[in-house]
Amino acid sequence: MSKLTVRDLKVGFRQDGQILQAVHGVSFTVEQGETVALVGESGSGKSVTALSTVSLLGGSAEVEGSVTFDGQELIGAPAKRLRQVRGNDISFIFQEPMTSLNPLHTLEKQITESLALHQGLSGEAARERIVALLERVGIRDAASRLTAYPHQLSGGQRQRVMIAMALANKPGILIADEPTTALDVTIQAQILELLAELKREEGMGLLFITHDLNVVSRIADRVCVMKDGRIVESGPTREIFDNPRHDYTRKLLAARP
Ligand code: ADP
Ligand code: MG
Repeated sequence: MSKLTVRDLKVGFRQDGQILQAVHGVSFTVEQGETVALVGESGSGKSVTALSTVSLLGGSAEVEGSVTFDGQELIGAPAKRLRQVRGNDISFIFQEPMTSLNPLHTLEKQITESLALHQGLSGEAARERIVALLERVGIRDAASRLTAYPHQLSGGQRQRVMIAMALANKPGILIADEPTTALDVTIQAQILELLAELKREEGMGLLFITHDLNVVSRIADRVCVMKDGRIVESGPTREIFDNPRHDYTRKLLAARP
């Protein structure tokens, strides 16, 4: 059984009495310890696909199809169950960590809240776990950085903090939606290296979303190419790069800088 299975997922948005269809029947799986890249140009439906796995799309979305985690259906699951899944099973990191961190809270407070919420840790136990998590993601002198505010960190450090928070609950699946897009190239490489290492050591499945094929070749075991709300081609990373079958994949590969 796959860790995450998405079957014939369709997502439309109600707007002015009409339905705008953003995702037209997408299917893929992510196994434990595997990195699957969802690749496509801006607007192709990558984020909508990712957000609908844990019902994060809001009221105007109409979602059909099936999403299972460890075989349990999530589409249409009760709100309580979905909160539990978001807390324990499927974690997210997004492109711009500044919007996900609270600018008024220290690092300790941000991570304490996520630990308390998900694992019932508090006090000294929580503090120790926070320091360990921050060190795990490569924040040096973590114990002395606990009182720092998000604006006192670099973009790369903020993304590391977001990864620490996403790991706090030991998820089975980590969904990273363009996690390196806002970072400069050197920092981007460091974050990719960190994600690859974490995936190896923690054994989680990683759904890595990007518009950048260069990033994919470094990190993914398999690639799904998405265009206009459909997966037009998928396969092992090497095959997609060496022998792309779909015109659109060839176009994406040719357009690489
Ligand atoms: P990507 O992540 O691949 O850049 P998205 O998944 O964000 O693309 O968007 C796919 C399509 O769905 C786009 O046309 C976008 O405008 C539309 N869309 C996304 N979110 C909403 C929403 N909340 N309401 C209406 N349309 C949306
Ligand atoms: Mg997106």
